[in-house]
Amino acid sequence: MHRVESLKIDSGCIRQVAQTLMENQVSGKILYVSDPVVDSLYGALVKNQIRDIGRLKEEYVDCNTINYAMSIAERVIATDVNCIVGMGGGKVLDVCKYASYISKVPFLSIPTTAANDGLASPVAVLKRQDDKPKSLGCKMASMILIDIEVIANGPKQLIKAGIGDTISNYMALKDWELACRRGQDIMNGYAYLMSRSSLDALMKTQFDCITPEFVEVLVNSLVLSGIAMDFAGSSRPVSGSEHLFSHALDYYSKKKNLHGIQTALGTVAVLRLIGEDTKSVVEYLKRFEVDVNPNHLGIDEDTFIECFQKATLMRTNRYTYLHEIDLCTDRLRNVYNWLTVEL
Ligand SMILES: [Zn+2]
Repeated sequence: MHRVESLKIDSGCIRQVAQTLMENQVSGKILYVSDPVVDSLYGALVKNQIRDIGRLKEEYVDCNTINYAMSIAERVIATDVNCIVGMGGGKVLDVCKYASYISKVPFLSIPTTAANDGLASPVAVLKRQDDKPKSLGCKMASMILIDIEVIANGPKQLIKAGIGDTISNYMALKDWELACRRGQDIMNGYAYLMSRSSLDALMKTQFDCITPEFVEVLVNSLVLSGIAMDFAGSSRPVSGSEHLFSHALDYYSKKKNLHGIQTALGTVAVLRLIGEDTKSVVEYLKRFEVDVNPNHLGIDEDTFIECFQKATLMRTNRYTYLHEIDLCTDRLRNVYNWLTVEL
């Protein structure tokens, strides 16, 4: 397990970059990595703090391929960079996470969105040469600063995706329990508890719209999910059949949707397929106006059916309910139609 040395979740903590780096004995050459949009909003604030304590180098990310992350790692190694400071959404942070893992330098992560549990996780999702995404095991960022105000001011749809990714723990835990009952996996009680607590904190919140206070609850949940992965040494506690379906959509669907939106749709669909109650999950999604109706997402019936039928092929070592239930076309068509009416 790789411990995060410094984790701060608060409004305004984007102003604590210099302080955090100093607390962790970082000085010298520091590589700042961001994308042009985020940089135009918060770049000056962060770069000025880096200049206060070290020598600033800059990199602006425009792609998220494995190749590109490796090229940053190479530059870090070749030019003796002491630390990577990455600020942005999942793409920027995953590039930095992997570059830091390869180059073995510390990484200060400043997420500006809360769209998925990669916020604080030991996994980076990067693109292969054929443009398909690949999940790569690496390590948690060594320092994480999550400014609630920054995230709450970002696009609402990304926050809704973060809700969806956390809700999918509901299905992922059911799948994990099943896999253990079938002797296909081993339970890790600590990781299970973390994932469950992440889900419960979100499901039991008294808020019913997206306010900064609610965003704080969501961020705490996403971080707990990330720690659950770190405890388990894999994404198992937060990723089951609903994630296999989402991975299949990433491969086979022409229409691209946010990861957390797809996993939330997957959660409701699998619950329906296995005959479990969908009410609490569906009501929760509606309460925060998280629209996962496949029609509205541009996922047609054929794509939906194909992705469910191919889902188990997406990850051969992950046993889920999809390995046991009937996934014939007629059944999936019924579920699709039910979803388009109920969601
Ligand atoms: Zn996820």
